[in-house]
Amino acid sequence: MTLSDRQLQLASMISEDAAARQWRDWRWQMRHSVRDIPTFERLLGVTFSGKERRDLELTVAKFPLAVTPYYLSLIDPQDWRNDPVYRQSFPMVAEAIIGQNDMTDPLAEDADSPAPNITHRYPDRVLFYVSGVCAMYCRHCTRKRKVGDRDTIPDKATLSRGIDYIRRTPQVRDVLISGGDPFLLDDGKLDWILGELGTIDHVEVVRIGTRTPVVLPYRITDDLCAMLRQHQPLWINTHFNHPREMTASARESLARLADAGIPLGNQSVLLAGVNDCPRIMKALVHKLVQNRVRPYYLYQCDLSEGLSHFRTPIGKGIEIMESLIGHTSGFAVPQYVIDAPGGGGKIRVAPNYILSWSTNKVVLRNYEGVITTYAEPESYEPYFCDRKCERCDLQLNLEDAPEDKALGIAQLLADADDTIALTPQGNDRAERREDP
Ligand code: SF4
Repeated sequence: MTLSDRQLQLASMISEDAAARQWRDWRWQMRHSVRDIPTFERLLGVTFSGKERRDLELTVAKFPLAVTPYYLSLIDPQDWRNDPVYRQSFPMVAEAIIGQNDMTDPLAEDADSPAPNITHRYPDRVLFYVSGVCAMYCRHCTRKRKVGDRDTIPDKATLSRGIDYIRRTPQVRDVLISGGDPFLLDDGKLDWILGELGTIDHVEVVRIGTRTPVVLPYRITDDLCAMLRQHQPLWINTHFNHPREMTASARESLARLADAGIPLGNQSVLLAGVNDCPRIMKALVHKLVQNRVRPYYLYQCDLSEGLSHFRTPIGKGIEIMESLIGHTSGFAVPQYVIDAPGGGGKIRVAPNYILSWSTNKVVLRNYEGVITTYAEPESYEPYFCDRKCERCDLQLNLEDAPEDKALGIAQLLADADDTIALTPQGNDRAERREDP
């Protein structure tokens, strides 16, 4: 695959003797990552005013800058201020403004950390942070407090403590390896982590979150893919936010992963001035599925510090979902989610399709505005569900259906115990009852 004129120009500006082969070497890209404002100005051919540069320096001192030459080459120099690649990779002065609702750790990932480098939030799965390094420090990163301020990779002893937690916690059946970017580890270390997880019987599936196909596609080497395919079942989620990121190099990296038998998903973040547009999002999801990547989540932007300028109203996300559901293939539609501030996990939000219902009919509307009815069954015999009823015994091999505690609304719907209401902590009325 030939380099674009812009990439050849950048390569020669970065290093006089840079050959095309070096451009495609991910370690060369990392060594020449742009980490300061003067280099960025020189390579992009722009000059910030004195005040803007001073403000940007302050921002970069708090939230560091790193952009691979590859990702930089995607910025349109003619309209760089409005460019979606520029906006994701280079700070704006607004990033230094900490809004009144901003939080350092809005998802309370550190509070839910029972072991080093582990967040255990949901009952059956954990997040395992294996790297503090990213190929690019996304300006919208929710984990700004963790990544970018120190290019650290935890040592084996620290990672072993996380693996030990997973080993002694049998309810964990799904491990999401994240960071930073796990693909910034060398193949050997990643192979070791995946191998250790593979020895734990109760871990049924491992996922890796990486943005390298977007910002450093040359990281997806044949050697990496050959190693990954030894560790099935393995899923990979990547993070494309805009169709402009789906270059020939990015597409090739996705094809290599898919050809290694790895199912691919994509998590986008809804960002003002980047992808807050139904047409852009539709173009993105179409490009993803063409390249064997299933759109998985569309995230509402989190309340992390310095992200106010990226946030959109939730109504914008609903509008985008309204333009996708029914208007394109179901498997091309991501789930729109809000990650609950305070650590409540992901909450799905969507346009309303149920308009009303009675005991015998549900009134629904479709994506075109057609209003229709669905007749409920004339007879349906409800059954008592205590989460281990006769039906389970009869219809499932219990080894395949481990008994599980019902939680939250599922607990109210089940008949496993006599809970009939969930009451928030600190509820005055409940406290009066306890302490009349
Ligand atoms: S690659 Fe992921 S973890 Fe790293 S800066 Fe971007 S969003 Fe954050």
